[in-house]
Amino acid sequence: MKLYCATKNRGKLREFQNVAGDIEIAVLPDLDKLPAPDENGGTFEANARLKAEYYSREADCPVFADDSGLVVDALGEEPGVYSARYAGEGAGDAANNRLLLERMQGIEDRRARFKCVIALAEKGHVIATFSGAVAGQILSEPRGTNGFGYDPLFYYAPLGCTMAEIETARKFDISHRGEALRKMFAYLRSRAR
Ligand code: IMP
Repeated sequence: MKLYCATKNRGKLREFQNVAGDIEIAVLPDLDKLPAPDENGGTFEANARLKAEYYSREADCPVFADDSGLVVDALGEEPGVYSARYAGEGAGDAANNRLLLERMQGIEDRRARFKCVIALAEKGHVIATFSGAVAGQILSEPRGTNGFGYDPLFYYAPLGCTMAEIETARKFDISHRGEALRKMFAYLRSRAR
């Protein structure tokens, strides 16, 4: 079974391919040439749906797109759908992390979650969506060099380390994206039977 993944994020793609098993995951051909759709949905699900619908229109096999991000309880669920551009359009991970630390200064409640929604679509129509979440706490200093995004600030208590201190393959066992992807694989395998 082959699926196209509509992501330009190499970190995410590696995570997906590491656990795909007998399911072949390829980057959507011409992804770089297509103008990206406006991710103007107010929720992770809305953004995942609009990307999967858009990119699957011309594709010759199903396409999945994910939308994910960090929600911090004490910040009223910020940065949420703005996670990738928290410090402004085109801001990188370092600037986003710096802003998060600034906003968290003096805040005791450090609870946060990574959330992910994957939408699977065929010929411009969403067939199903799958969600995942993982709970953690925002540290006051970064730790670790693996992963991407807010990983160095996200402390995962069950393993006693940050997401950036976990190997990529291991992170997927516990991550929001791993949970959503495993749900999608289970769905596809049950459909193929
Ligand atoms: P997306 O690519 O539109 O889903 O935006 C996701 C943004 O949320 C990324 O740029 C990261 O800032 C953040 N994010 C999502 N998942 C993760 C993760 O697993 N680790 C760290 N940051 C993440």
